[in-house]
Amino acid sequence: MATLLIVDDEPQVRKLLETLLQYEGYHTLSVGSGEEALALVAEQAPDLILLDIMMPGMDGFEVANQLKGNPATANIPIIMLSALSEPSARLSGLQTGAEEFISKPVERVELWLRVRNLLRLKTYGDQLKSHSLMLEQQLRERGTETATMNVHDLARLDLQNALRQAVKANEFSLHYQPKLDLGSGQVAGLEALLRWDRPGYGEVSPAVFVPILESLGLIITVGRWVIDQVCRQIAIWQGSAVGALEVSVNVSGHQLMEGDLISDIARILADTGVAPQWLEVELTESSLMENTQHTISSLQRLRDMGVKIAIDDFGTGYSSLAYLRRFPLDTLKIDIAFIREVTSNPQDAAIARTIIELAHSLNLRAVAEGVETAAQLAFLKEAGCDQIQGYLFSPPLPVAALAQWFVGKRGA
Ligand code: C2E
Ligand code: MG
Ligand code: MG
Repeated sequence: MATLLIVDDEPQVRKLLETLLQYEGYHTLSVGSGEEALALVAEQAPDLILLDIMMPGMDGFEVANQLKGNPATANIPIIMLSALSEPSARLSGLQTGAEEFISKPVERVELWLRVRNLLRLKTYGDQLKSHSLMLEQQLRERGTETATMNVHDLARLDLQNALRQAVKANEFSLHYQPKLDLGSGQVAGLEALLRWDRPGYGEVSPAVFVPILESLGLIITVGRWVIDQVCRQIAIWQGSAVGALEVSVNVSGHQLMEGDLISDIARILADTGVAPQWLEVELTESSLMENTQHTISSLQRLRDMGVKIAIDDFGTGYSSLAYLRRFPLDTLKIDIAFIREVTSNPQDAAIARTIIELAHSLNLRAVAEGVETAAQLAFLKEAGCDQIQGYLFSPPLPVAALAQWFVGKRGA
């Protein structure tokens, strides 16, 4: 369980943050001044710090400066809290090395999303660090000079090399997760999810390796392989007892911006003889919000071909409604963050309902992901959600296991 340190001179603010964060399952510590914060961190490093800027005595800027200036504490993520909304306060906060900035009064969903995202990044950084310490040790044993290189560079380099090798040796595979149509009770389609079994390490999460493939420019090659593999699989299923199924493929913004996504898809559909209506591409809300003009025209071409388009992780990317109307879309996928507590948290429930209504008012289908309980399913059904996806219905499965799963479904 992650430990979060709250630093704020106002007791009511501390109490509020403690309540919100404990409710999300975090362990909290709190202090009322910058001096106390530094003393506590020196004794027991937290996983993340929420730091008020305006405090009597040592202010938040000074605390952040000291923590970021010390190698022992520089890696602890800091979220600055401020009632000041001026951009200059935000800038000074970021200049001290703070990772994030939240304005008071603190909004619950924003708080937990920022905390969650930073903790994920930190976990990844810690993994890299322990891995790089090991590498450093190995290098020292071999007596090379390279040990003086920045340890993070080394670990990243190692992962990058492993991924280059993975692309060459094709160490990737795909799992497919069925989606349930709430109207008919039938399988609505599948989502293809990339898997990498790193030799000697085991499964690495696509949330970790996809961004690295993107930074190496390799996502275009791997993404093309995914689409090719998926279309071949659709054709195989169409010729078998499984039958025709719609499959969604996650596509990186890089494929749209730098690759030749549209002609790749056209060629692959022609090669495999799959009709475009069986393919859907999923783009995250945040990737759609970059370079919107180019994105809209590319998506329009895909849509004209007959390929479907979904926005993934919807609700976290702050897209404007005006833009949303201009995108040619078929599906909105509600981010898992709003589904997790949809039955216990009225705010999440309201957001989920709003997204479903928004989807319907734009003539789109609403899909909820991460559905794990019957109570979540009942809520979504009542709220008029069109499709659900999650461990409750089925986890992502390799092709062979999926065939078995279909047999079980028919028998049921
Ligand atoms: P996503 O597209 O939002 O995929 C949904 C994620 O939720 C998947 O994680 C899936 O395994 C997980 N999931 C499904 N049901 C449940 C549930 O009931 N509870 C919970 N807690 N999780 C559930 P996964 O497979 O680790 O993928 C993570 C992300 O990596 C994906 O998020 C997607 O953004 C990216 N990704 C996966 N495959 C590809 C790909 O081929 N290309 C690109 N560009 N990105 C991919
Ligand atoms: Mg997806
Ligand atoms: Mg998603």
